[in-house]
Amino acid sequence: MYRIIDGKAISASVKQRVKNGVEELSKKGITTSLAVIIVGDDPASKVYVANKKKACEALGIISEEYALPASTTQEELLSLIDTLNGRKDINGILCQLPLPSGLDENAVINAILPEKDVDAFHPQNVGKIMIGDYDFVPCTPAGIMEMLSYEGIDPEGKRCVVIGRSNIVGKPMSMLLLHKNGTVTVCHSRTKNLAEICRSADILVAAVGRACFVTADMVKDGAVVIDVGMNRVDGKLCGDVDFDSVKEKASYITPVPGGVGPMTIAMLMQNTLTAAKKQNNLL
Ligand code: NAP
Repeated sequence: MYRIIDGKAISASVKQRVKNGVEELSKKGITTSLAVIIVGDDPASKVYVANKKKACEALGIISEEYALPASTTQEELLSLIDTLNGRKDINGILCQLPLPSGLDENAVINAILPEKDVDAFHPQNVGKIMIGDYDFVPCTPAGIMEMLSYEGIDPEGKRCVVIGRSNIVGKPMSMLLLHKNGTVTVCHSRTKNLAEICRSADILVAAVGRACFVTADMVKDGAVVIDVGMNRVDGKLCGDVDFDSVKEKASYITPVPGGVGPMTIAMLMQNTLTAAKKQNNLL
């Protein structure tokens, strides 16, 4: 019998914790604020930014949105980041990716001050995650760790398989599981015997970007299955896991929608609170 890990409920509890933290700071006369930069007209990016703004408002976090045209130059974008870096009243800065062609994402990631880098994409923050001494963790892997912890699932000693090695999901996810003493295998498009490796997993994380990629024959009986995928098929959102067949083998499974997705924004809010506390020497 499987149990669905309810991302909506867990993210609500994280958000409540953040709201309480923001209120505590407010009592000390400290505001918590996030600047969000969006360049161009990508519809998905617009939705993500609108959702981040809504979440900030609900938790008492001040949000400033900078919507720049696709024609924005690299210099203009870096100049805005420089201004936001210098403002004491801005705790977190994020630039919604992907950027329109012609803009250098790495330069933008490098330009954001590490202490305001609430996406945890700056090389300094990436390095700190590797060492295991970090303040910010990329929001999606952080959200997955929160889900595991909420459900009482301890990765220690477990075989963990992560499918995907992106900088924002797969790699940091594998490091976080390793820090929790999981035995971690990272798979990618060149992995041989993928199904066999997946079948060895006690905890299987799918971050591939292909609808229904993980099928029941790739899953061990009793595995914990975490579906990061957000794919559109005929206008419908679906994950990387073939939920209907895989759920029968899993002990725990995340749905799409309502699984990992809601956690990502909640953890962004948590990172923003952490930034505000750190910048006011309260951590
Ligand atoms: P990405 O950068 O495209 O990375 C996909 C990874 O999957 C790559 O490492 C790739 O391997 C691997 N892969 C592709 N085809 C494969 C195959 N046939 N066998 C094994 N591995 C394969 O994607 P991402 O940014 O990590 O995102 C992954 C998914 O998660 C997407 O659906 C995305 O929309 C979703 N996502 C969701 C959230 C959320 O909040 N829920 C947040 C972020 C991302 P190579 O490295 O060899 O190319």
